[in-house]
Amino acid sequence: MREDGLAGGADGADRLGELIPVALRGMAAGIAERGGPIPAGGPAAVAAALVAEGGELDAGVAGHAGGEGAAGSDRSAAPAGAAREPAAAGEAAAAAVLSAEPGVVECSARQPASAVLSAEPGATERGARRPAARPSEPEPVSGTGATTGALPRRGVGAEAALEELSRLLAAGSADPADPGCAAHLHCPPLAVAVAADVVASALNPSMDSWDQAPVASELEREFTAGIARLCYPHAGTPDAVVTTGGTESNLLGLLLAREHGIRQVVCGANAHHSVARAAWLLGLPAPVVVPCERDRLLPGALADAAGPHTVVVATAGTTNTGTLDPLPEIAGICRRAGARLHVDAAYGGTALCSDALRPKLAGLELADSVALDLHKFGWQPVAAGLFAAREAADLAALTVRAEYLNAGDDTEAGLPDLLGRSIRTSRRPDAFRMAVTVRALGTDGLGALVERCCATATQVAELVDAHPGLRLWGPPELSTVVLRPVAAEETGGDELVARIRRALLEAGTAVIGRAALPTGPGGATQLWLKLTLLHPHTTAADYRTLLDRIVATAGAELVAVRENPVAS
Ligand SMILES: *Cc1c(COP(=O)(O)O)cnc(C)c1O
Repeated sequence: MREDGLAGGADGADRLGELIPVALRGMAAGIAERGGPIPAGGPAAVAAALVAEGGELDAGVAGHAGGEGAAGSDRSAAPAGAAREPAAAGEAAAAAVLSAEPGVVECSARQPASAVLSAEPGATERGARRPAARPSEPEPVSGTGATTGALPRRGVGAEAALEELSRLLAAGSADPADPGCAAHLHCPPLAVAVAADVVASALNPSMDSWDQAPVASELEREFTAGIARLCYPHAGTPDAVVTTGGTESNLLGLLLAREHGIRQVVCGANAHHSVARAAWLLGLPAPVVVPCERDRLLPGALADAAGPHTVVVATAGTTNTGTLDPLPEIAGICRRAGARLHVDAAYGGTALCSDALRPKLAGLELADSVALDLHKFGWQPVAAGLFAAREAADLAALTVRAEYLNAGDDTEAGLPDLLGRSIRTSRRPDAFRMAVTVRALGTDGLGALVERCCATATQVAELVDAHPGLRLWGPPELSTVVLRPVAAEETGGDELVARIRRALLEAGTAVIGRAALPTGPGGATQLWLKLTLLHPHTTAADYRTLLDRIVATAGAELVAVRENPVAS
């Protein structure tokens, strides 16, 4: 197989058919090797594994230069599993897969990074995971490729690169498909979406001109029209565009407001940081921040801040707690004050697909614009952002003319003008996998997955509430469960909470989030732990052991805090 073969064209599908199984084999080996939601040992161990791997790659080239002698040198010099126990175990699985391949040298035990890096060229035992016989001259071995940042001058071939790095990525990833990975709005993508993405990547439509994306642009139009209708079922001329996520969508919301002459942003203390950042990017003053209670914007306080030259940003599903702002009241205040309203529904927006959950988003259709993220509830790989506007005409602010992409005469002759559908130029057809997903599951199917996550969160919250070692922040509105170990209430404080999270990360047993919330005396912030449940196939029982583990870790860390407190 040529490493410079193309993904598209007459033979593209055949080439991909050969390479994708190789990549998936590496991925499966890496997942088996990790055996948990995140690699154990924290950043130092991950970096060391990468350095070891880089050394092995270089040493592998040297080994082949040395021929049989190199591959057959003294194995006892390298203690198996010295670098990292789980990796060594997984290595055997990877080796089994690899040694079945013709032309691949049998894999030997893992060396510690230092052994690989200090090995004389030709003296290393390491020669696995690459074709045995490469006739070309080897690169000079530095053994430090991974640390110096040097790019390889000579390639190892498509199969070796794909299998090796796919294994490395899978072994070293925080995997949201593991129920123990529950910190962030970081979803496990659906296989159907990822498969669609392969085709999109192979054909590589670029969404900045019709002649680069004839049908992809039509599919995107149809899909975004559907999203616009989902957000604005009764509006006359709603429209939506694809973005990279909530951050870009919030920027667009403020940009369109500024184009309407608005100069001041008003948002809740619960608003996402991207709102203040968007104001900064757009040269607007810092937002006026309205107080919240239990992470929900207080409408009473908003009435004083909203005016005819303001855009109010409300949140439908905060990142910290999943709480929804009271949208109907906020929309009423905005209408009376003549203020514009942008709703950041990056987290909660897809609840529109569920009959049961849609009432939580009542009032959304009163917003001038809405941010949604299908790489959260929506189970898309990043990026899958959407921005909906109640008035399609507002999006005309994005119009731009570039002679080579949307010349006036081309547009007059009937070629659709795509450039004004984004603030980007070259742009991936992210709508394609979203459209495939919605076609496969229907909005009902997506809504059912959202419901399931929210129901699981409610049950996990009940487990937390009933747990003698834990305190619940409050009942979840979406799929976020916020909790604090009782030990932190009594003695350990915020430091204990932070340590628990890091200890679980270090152990590789759980990835849980943190949220600073004003629950302390006099509204002082306190640190809480956060589970953001986006795994659609887990049940509350899957989280029972995680809760016990949090409490057990709290006990162990409490001892550590007492013995070795960090000055704050
Ligand atoms: C995730 C999130 C964002 C940011 O979205 P990205 O897709 O990460 O850019 C903004 N607002 C809220 C409420 C979010 O949850």
